[in-house]
Amino acid sequence: MNYNSTRGQAPQMNVCSAIIKGIASDKGLYVPESFPKLTKSWEELSMLNYKELAYTVLAPYIPEFTEEELKACISGAYDGKFSEEEIVPVRKAGGAWFIELYHGPTAAFKDMALQLMPWLLTKSVEKQHEDKTVVILVSTSGDTGMAALKGFENVPGTQIVVFFPDGAVSPVQEQQMRTASGNNAHVFSILGNFDDAQTTQKQILNDKELSERMAEKGYTFSAANSMNIGRLIPQIVYYVWGYSRLVANGTVKAGDPVNICVPSGNFGNILSAYYAMRMGVPVKRLICASNKNKVLTDFINTGTYDANREFFVTNSPSMDILISSNLERLLYHLAGNDAEEVRSLMGQLTEKGRYTVGAKVRDGLEALFSAGYADEDEICAAIGELYNSEGYLMDTHTAVGYKVWKDYAANENDYTPALIASTASPYKFAATIADSIGIGQGADQFDTIDRLMIATGYPIPEGLKDLRSRKVIHTESIRREDMKQRVEQLLGL
Ligand SMILES: *Cc1c(COP(=O)(O)O)cnc(C)c1O
Repeated sequence: MNYNSTRGQAPQMNVCSAIIKGIASDKGLYVPESFPKLTKSWEELSMLNYKELAYTVLAPYIPEFTEEELKACISGAYDGKFSEEEIVPVRKAGGAWFIELYHGPTAAFKDMALQLMPWLLTKSVEKQHEDKTVVILVSTSGDTGMAALKGFENVPGTQIVVFFPDGAVSPVQEQQMRTASGNNAHVFSILGNFDDAQTTQKQILNDKELSERMAEKGYTFSAANSMNIGRLIPQIVYYVWGYSRLVANGTVKAGDPVNICVPSGNFGNILSAYYAMRMGVPVKRLICASNKNKVLTDFINTGTYDANREFFVTNSPSMDILISSNLERLLYHLAGNDAEEVRSLMGQLTEKGRYTVGAKVRDGLEALFSAGYADEDEICAAIGELYNSEGYLMDTHTAVGYKVWKDYAANENDYTPALIASTASPYKFAATIADSIGIGQGADQFDTIDRLMIATGYPIPEGLKDLRSRKVIHTESIRREDMKQRVEQLLGL
């Protein structure tokens, strides 16, 4: 299994090098050259537990690892780190099935990949005899930052540098990142939005002169964002798992299709669902759900991607994104691996902030994808409705998915069994949740968390329990123009 750059002008790599590099030297993203098929039957797959299934799904993507090595990575990632024994429970509410991806250490779905990725990365470094300190750059709209800090906490041979948009993440997310205690952790807030941080981060990663100076000092850059293929592959597992649960509980017969709805921002999570489909999960529609920053909804419905629009800070901040990195990978696959077309489209995006896809990509989108969005009031209404009717509590991002799926099902009269990616614990966005279910906020975010627990009986995630008493370590706020210089400084370059 080799990996190609979506822009076709960087060398093909094995998975180890692709994970270490993070982003290709031609600014493209690494994609697998082919999609391995699930070889076991659904009857067999539905008998496996999450870790066993993870091994089956991941092994063909990572042939460089022995069975023993990969299994050790999977155990290291998931043993004792998740509060639910199943790791990912799949629960029915409101007529759909929620794949609960948020029972890990930082209470968001990013843990599913970021608990595993450090194991894959450090093993890859060992195998490639790189023997360098890996400096992991992260730009985050809220959840990736903490999940990466937790995943890489005190991991030898790594330094982790996180940039988040100042004032644009939830108070819980901010407190988590500012109190991150790993001995290799560096956290900065950026005076700008997520797109600013991600664009500058990509420039730093592609800075040849800087990387030469880094190499001399024994450093190499990598990225923990979903532009790194090491983030996407672990996310395929839970879509295969979600389908296998529906087979196991008799909701679908093996081979019958499901719909999958994913609240989306950088398009990594839903892209993993697409990869799961290419591997053999029977999918009728992939439903892309956006908040008020509905650039993806418009793209899927019209074939034109236009980032020239107002940017909104919303109550689902992890989806407040206008430049969705992973769409590039989907364009590549739908265009029939046409790197030239991708280069042209991405060039237009950089120059004009917009592009229109050709007929082939358009047809591919229409055949599989649907899209919709929910505004802030609709999000709150959906949370209140599902809690009051069934006692099921969702976070704001998951509520976007639920609302968009419900609209889709009603409009298309399509009640195919549906899986919805449930991406964060309601406690991460406690203030909005408390308002939505009508209990009102407490004096501060910590009070609100307690109130929510008393009112709903939902357990507070382990990782959020002692937030109040944690020591604030990272207080620095910088301009995006200074990101590169700050990285140089802290590495002593
Ligand atoms: C990151 C995130 C999303 C968006 O996922 P993408 O892979 O960026 O599309 C949705 N919800 C939550 C809670 C997230 O943290």
